[in-house]
Amino acid sequence: MSLYELAIRSARGSGFVHYEAIAYERASASYRARKFDELADFYLRNARDRYMRWGAVGKVQQLDEIYAHLRDREVTPAPTSTITAPVEHLDLAPVIKVSQAISSEIVLEKLIDTLMRTAIAQAGAVRGLLIVPRDVEPRIEAEATTRGETTVVHLRDDNVTAAAVPESVLRYVLRTQESVILDDATTENPFSADPYIRQHNSRSILCLPLINQAKLIGVLYLENNLTPRVFAPTRIALLKVLASQAAISLENSRLYGDLREQEARIRRLVDANIIGIFIWELEGRVVEANDAFLRMVGYDREDLAAGRVHRRNLTPPEWCDRDERTMTEVKMMGTVQPFEKEYFRKDGNRVPVMIGLASFKKGGKQGVAFVLDLTERKRAEAEARESERRLADLRMEFAHTARVSLLGELTASIAHEINQPLAAVFTNSKAGLRWLDRAEPNVTEARESLKRIVDDTRRAADIIARIRTMATGKTSQLEATSLNDVIEQSITFIGHELQSKRTSVSFDLAPSLPKITGDRVQLQQVVVNLVINAIQAMEESTTARRAVFIRTFLSESETVCCTVEDSGTGFDVRYMSRLFDSFFTTKDSGMGIGLAMSRSIIEAHGGVLQADNESSLGGARVRFALPLNLTPPRANKETVSSNQT
Ligand code: ADP
Repeated sequence: MSLYELAIRSARGSGFVHYEAIAYERASASYRARKFDELADFYLRNARDRYMRWGAVGKVQQLDEIYAHLRDREVTPAPTSTITAPVEHLDLAPVIKVSQAISSEIVLEKLIDTLMRTAIAQAGAVRGLLIVPRDVEPRIEAEATTRGETTVVHLRDDNVTAAAVPESVLRYVLRTQESVILDDATTENPFSADPYIRQHNSRSILCLPLINQAKLIGVLYLENNLTPRVFAPTRIALLKVLASQAAISLENSRLYGDLREQEARIRRLVDANIIGIFIWELEGRVVEANDAFLRMVGYDREDLAAGRVHRRNLTPPEWCDRDERTMTEVKMMGTVQPFEKEYFRKDGNRVPVMIGLASFKKGGKQGVAFVLDLTERKRAEAEARESERRLADLRMEFAHTARVSLLGELTASIAHEINQPLAAVFTNSKAGLRWLDRAEPNVTEARESLKRIVDDTRRAADIIARIRTMATGKTSQLEATSLNDVIEQSITFIGHELQSKRTSVSFDLAPSLPKITGDRVQLQQVVVNLVINAIQAMEESTTARRAVFIRTFLSESETVCCTVEDSGTGFDVRYMSRLFDSFFTTKDSGMGIGLAMSRSIIEAHGGVLQADNESSLGGARVRFALPLNLTPPRANKETVSSNQT
């Protein structure tokens, strides 16, 4: 491509037709100098066409005179710009200078400054205003004033007032979109009555509409209150070019400003790193990404530049099909509804995400994706599931504890069941003795009786083993257990009981109590038993205050201790030695299992359980101590006897 072709392209890209005209003319002159007449004519015809569209009729006439054969190709100028009439006798040099000055500014503030200075200088005005129509009322956007050689431009955002501008002139231009030129405003004219003109003794006034694509962009108001007839026709022609150029540039600048603002807003969203954002290519490469996304997948900017952040590396195999479908969908529809998937992080771990995609244009090869890290949410969901599971466990345990408190009824039936083998043992023993006491002992029959005794005893032992299994719920499950937690959970179980019996519970739980190795459920049963005993003891007592006080602490001998004190009657001192006997009770509806079972659980944990009347609340006190590390549980009496039978 020749240099001239390049120049024409860039002129076309600028959007200014006169640049194109000049570029074509230069190309034509170059080809003509090298005797490529046909090419030269081709380019010249284009140049003439652009000059015509621009409205440079003088220039077109000049070309037509030199190259008469080009005239056969006429083009009608587009009547959509400020210049609707031919621009007669226009000197191109200052026009191009002005055009370049205006069109090279893209930042609005600088553009307005250049426009106002150029306008004031080219027109010979003393004061100038740029007025822009807004939603309701036009507003003064800039004011230029001249003092001596200096021109000062102020950006404003003021209402249009009669003190600032001849309003009747401005309204006329806004309404008709035609220019108003007053050579000497002090002489009789349609705007003579305007308060501004009368007050300021205005002389030369020029008010030009700035029009682009048939749309009024603004109004350029210029005045010189000292000299009449300042705005001569040649200056006006130039100012019209300036106005036309200014309209386009103002519009471009505004669009550019909007675009920048929009871009800045998107940039802010991307840089805020609230969610991961990346720009993808259809074949899988991530071409741009914000820090949030890179952090999520554990890659850095170097990986991004090297093309390593790629769908191929990010997608676990089981998600490949879904990805294929997603890309087909985004290609066809332009967007994909957010969905959950997983990414491979650079370190090989997985990260759960929610992702939404949109392509920049339908069928396009690039687009943007928004990614939300779901790790926290997934963790919270798992925790919720876990606590639901724990709640279910607690319910089961509660049901079990309820079963424990129902043991009273059970005991009656068990006692009955045990009574029966006991009676059988009694009968068989007697029978055996009788067979042996005979003059001639019948050893065979006596052996039979003894065999039946063995069977009956085994049956009784089985029944007792069953009671124990029921009472402890299950075989021990040892784990690191916080005694404080055990206490709190136990109190939750019997909350209703406490409430209905109007019993208050206070705590003094050692905050950093070490965990013990123990069966949580069994330990809960101990606490439940002790507190229920306390509630029942206070029911009998005459004291108005029904209070339970539970304390935990670490003893000097490195055991975790707990005391349960109440304000009840206290233990009956007559029975202190029998308190832990199975089935010992002083209550009508009691079953005498609670304390015995509690002690056997604590002892199975290698600890000790004691009872006394040293309660700080005046009633009973039960204390137990558990070692930090569990020594092997002692064998249980019933088990031994059951094995022996
Ligand atoms: P029971 O269910 O029959 O009360 P326990 O083994 O729990 O069986 O208790 C045995 C006996 O110990 C009770 O009948 C009662 O006399 C006495 N006892 C237990 N706890 C207390 C307490 N906090 N205050 C007074 N006496 C108690």
